[in-house]
Amino acid sequence: MSNQLIERHEARLAALYEVSSQLGKSLDLGEVLNQVMDSIIQLTGAERGFLMLYDSENGDLQTRAARNFDQETIEADATNISRTVIERAINTGEGILSSNAQEDDRFSGRESVIGYQLRSIMCAPLQVRGHTLGAVYVDNRLFSGVFEKDDLGLLVTFANQAAIAIENARLFTQTDQALARRVEELSLFQRIDQQLNRSLELNQVLSLSLNWAIALTNAAGGSIGLFEDIENEDTGMLDGSPIRILRLMVFRGEEEHSESRLVSLDHPIVQKIMADGRSILTNDVSEEESVDGTPASMQLAVPIQQDGIITGLITLETQQNIEINREDIAFVERLSDRAAVAIKNAKLYEAIQDANKAKSEFISLVAHELRVPMTSIKGYTDLMNAGLAGPLSDQQKQFLEVIRRNLTRMTSLISDLSDINHIESGRMKFDLQPFDLREVVADVADSLRERIANRQQTLHIEIEDDLPLIFADSTRMAQVVSNLMSNANKYTQDGGEIVLRAWPNGRYAHVSIQDNGLGISEENQEKLFTQFFRAEDKEVREQAGWGLGLSIVRRMVEAQNGEITFESILGEGSTFTFTIPLANME
Ligand code: ADP
Repeated sequence: MSNQLIERHEARLAALYEVSSQLGKSLDLGEVLNQVMDSIIQLTGAERGFLMLYDSENGDLQTRAARNFDQETIEADATNISRTVIERAINTGEGILSSNAQEDDRFSGRESVIGYQLRSIMCAPLQVRGHTLGAVYVDNRLFSGVFEKDDLGLLVTFANQAAIAIENARLFTQTDQALARRVEELSLFQRIDQQLNRSLELNQVLSLSLNWAIALTNAAGGSIGLFEDIENEDTGMLDGSPIRILRLMVFRGEEEHSESRLVSLDHPIVQKIMADGRSILTNDVSEEESVDGTPASMQLAVPIQQDGIITGLITLETQQNIEINREDIAFVERLSDRAAVAIKNAKLYEAIQDANKAKSEFISLVAHELRVPMTSIKGYTDLMNAGLAGPLSDQQKQFLEVIRRNLTRMTSLISDLSDINHIESGRMKFDLQPFDLREVVADVADSLRERIANRQQTLHIEIEDDLPLIFADSTRMAQVVSNLMSNANKYTQDGGEIVLRAWPNGRYAHVSIQDNGLGISEENQEKLFTQFFRAEDKEVREQAGWGLGLSIVRRMVEAQNGEITFESILGEGSTFTFTIPLANME
């Protein structure tokens, strides 16, 4: 090799080293492509050049960077000029050099070669791990110089390195974009979930889901239907057994008649979805073919599945060239999964509400049916007790006393159940008025005085002198105080002490009822206030009760804008404290 050649070789290697070391510093695809293009022009001394990459969406080769080609040439001719050259480079996987294109058999027939007086051409494929990304192309017109074999070697070597940098940037961009899309989608679904979870009303859940599906796919309209078994009077079937149909529950579109439309399972699209459980995209659907009766240029039907069973269908229609793409389908499918959960919850809630209503009606009925005979039993017992049916022996009096005690127990159960019923169904009325708590406390203490005396307990009442009027329903307040005091009496040993205190605190009156009785174990404290809960202790079970009092008390206090808390130590005693608004602060 002559010195001159060696020098030239070294200079090229130095240049290659320099441009190569710059590669990979950026992960921005556009920046990398420009850098590659500049380096190629610098290395080969080409007059102009461009770089083409396969488009990931449609698979076509697209010009992604160019030097000294004007946009028009690129758009109109460049791809034509070089298509043969580039295709050959890509197909053979090797670089191409032509130092006299006009006379080269491979290209000379091309109009563009002649038209642009092309003489010297080089092209190298961009390959990574056997996979072709595209190609780079450079050329020189005759007077600008001719490429040599060394130049091609340099171009091919550089193209190999450039391909890696391009692929990295491309992957990074893709991951970056995919990540951004995913984050965006996640935050969107978070919003959707929040909205869906806020509602337990079935129609609202369906409506929300449909709105989101339409908004995010740019659909013109759509519907959500749920499968249901109906009595088939309206369907004209003869055997009377219920049949399954799809009932459109919500609908968006122009034709209002689609609201609550029934779709037979024979409908071809419904049938297909039921058979393979997958979404179906149909083009040019007529009114008959459309699930919700809306003709459309595209219809997407996505099943709603719960635990592997198809329970409904989301359909969306687009008109006039608005496409539904794969991403849209995936989105609606994910939305459908979320809607399925919300629909299930709403249906459960509906069922619970129905059951509650039935329970409430049943209790009202039973309470009424029991009160009537009990009034009569009580009436006759009182008559007999008063001796109006003749004189009574001591034993008869004793038996009548047992009947009377049990009647009282039954009456209290019925009145507790009715109270709960009224509170739960929102039918209990609270007549909130300003009044003096002292009066209520005095009345309750009077009514319990005998029971307290029977157990040799003492009752202290300590109401602070400056306690203002409270704002509550006096009858309900008496019930609350009576319940708590009665518990203190029942669950405190003979000779125990009960203290009622009341004092103002900020905008509230605080009322506490303290006893030094049985107390409540930590385990039982957690269950307190639940209906029918009673401690297992023998002393507790000796006392009459149904385990409903505290739950009624809590609801009543809360309905009168207060709160109830308690403190208790097993074997030492309990203190129940509730708050109630003061009248002047209302
Ligand atoms: P009942 O008194 O009819 O059982 P409650 O709802 O008023 O129903 O009370 C539920 C249970 O809570 C009682 O059975 C008892 O075990 C416990 N309890 C309530 N108040 C007290 C109290 N002051 N001291 C000890 N245990 C209590």
